[in-house]
Amino acid sequence: MIPASHQFRIHKFGQAAPWMDLANSEMWDGYGHLTDFLNDPQWISDFLEYWRFRVPSPGPGVLRDLRKLRKLLRHFAGKTSEGTAIQTRDLEALNSWLKVPVFRRLVEDQNGLQLTHRPVQIGWPAVLAQIADSLAEAVAHDSKDRLKICANPGCAWVFVDRTKGRVRRWCSDATCGNRDRVRRSRAAHKG
Ligand SMILES: [Zn+2]
Repeated sequence: MIPASHQFRIHKFGQAAPWMDLANSEMWDGYGHLTDFLNDPQWISDFLEYWRFRVPSPGPGVLRDLRKLRKLLRHFAGKTSEGTAIQTRDLEALNSWLKVPVFRRLVEDQNGLQLTHRPVQIGWPAVLAQIADSLAEAVAHDSKDRLKICANPGCAWVFVDRTKGRVRRWCSDATCGNRDRVRRSRAAHKG
């Protein structure tokens, strides 16, 4: 378990799904300054521990794959956020990450019976597939219009909009939402 006081949790990782954490590992501070957590071995080890991916630290080839997959995840989030159509080539790109053999198993948990699928082999290809799979699950079930990118261009945090009317625009009302209100009221005063 990663305690809530840990940097990984303070930055609000480990909330929704592995794909969202990877997408947000490219983190802007709200003013356009970028931190790439894929350069941070501690973040990577927290990410792997949190989602119970049992693989060694990534080498340069795997890091390249993680960045490539991250770009695709953000591309998808951009589309669901804007409500634009996901195209065949987007699906093909995502499907290419899902191409690992899986075995299926029916299990029972607090939500009832669940059909699970796990990669047959372990290792990084399986982990990359599971990350991609978590996005595929999210867009396949009708929650895709809840997957959004913060409207503050200096932030661009990917989040799940759980409001009833799906009206949320900011990753956080207290930070990005508030900054927008301040900016608009300043502009109004000037005008
Ligand atoms: Zn934001």
